[in-house]
Amino acid sequence: MEEHNFYSRQTVLKEIGEIGQEKLKQSKFLIVGAGGLGHPVAIYLAAAGVGKISIIDFDRVEPSNLNRQICFTREDIGKKKSEVLCDKLKTQNPFITVEGITKKLQLQNISKTINSFDIILDCSDNFNTKFLLHDFAWWHSKDLIQASIYQYEGQIQVFNYSKDKNTGCLRCLWNNKPENHCVQNCSEAGVIGVVAGSLGTLQALESIKLLLDLGSKHNNTTIMVDLLNLELQKIKWKKLDDCKLCSKKISIQDVYGLHTPFYKDYELPDLNQPNMILVDIREKNEIVCDDTYDHYKIIYLPLSEIKSWKKEINPDKKYLFLCQKGIRSSQIVKEFRNQKLTNCFSLHGGIDRMKN
Ligand SMILES: [Zn+2]
Repeated sequence: MEEHNFYSRQTVLKEIGEIGQEKLKQSKFLIVGAGGLGHPVAIYLAAAGVGKISIIDFDRVEPSNLNRQICFTREDIGKKKSEVLCDKLKTQNPFITVEGITKKLQLQNISKTINSFDIILDCSDNFNTKFLLHDFAWWHSKDLIQASIYQYEGQIQVFNYSKDKNTGCLRCLWNNKPENHCVQNCSEAGVIGVVAGSLGTLQALESIKLLLDLGSKHNNTTIMVDLLNLELQKIKWKKLDDCKLCSKKISIQDVYGLHTPFYKDYELPDLNQPNMILVDIREKNEIVCDDTYDHYKIIYLPLSEIKSWKKEINPDKKYLFLCQKGIRSSQIVKEFRNQKLTNCFSLHGGIDRMKN
């Protein structure tokens, strides 16, 4: 098969043509998150002939992912998401370069990770990653397409920072990052795969349009999609005169400062706490086969069975509670502390923050 045949149906479009196709071939896109949004994004960008696609995700495939992460099969359970999705894209299109990055995007590695890409697609599912990615994309003048879903609804935002950084930013809309527990994630709120698929597909299209300069621009606009009622709305918002990110000249150190974690007095940053009993309060079905923490002595006491083990907490010992994202563990520790059990601590950000 020849490469030009692969794209023949889209090069017929006068807005794309051979010139647009070459531009796609020369471009580098980074997909952050190999989940429900990341799958259609990756598949359509590979099919369109984006020359280099990198996918960053630290997670492994779980059975509950399969209803929306459509490139995974039962045989992939337990494998690294970024690697499985990469293999799928390599089979799909032999004319592009694909790279899987199995690490967590975080403050220490973000500048280096995003620097070589033209367009970044934020397919993550949490505010920490979204704000981190946004603020550094702004600083490095990278184009960013963010999408998120909630039950039957979704939203998309297109930031064309390579061309214009004075149009307003995410911080004009949200001065401070909302706490992660403000919005439920897919496991708590529920999601049907086709909603993630629809939003991811739109997100991929917006990224191609942005690269090829097609269609209308969406500066200062949130595109809201209600798939239950099949309605689409564009909501315009204003650039803030006193925005902490885009209104004044700030240094890269300031951008780092916006993301330096703030620990509460009952939180600890990691599991290296020699005099503490480590207690994982996740439910049994959440814990996947993972040897990352084998060298820690962790006991498992699911939160749903708290009534049976709560009375065993010994005021003379120290406990560090952990869960997936650090939300449930901090709630339970706050409750214990209200009962004068100041010997209880919570792992900041949970297991997810530890992975890299
Ligand atoms: Zn702003």
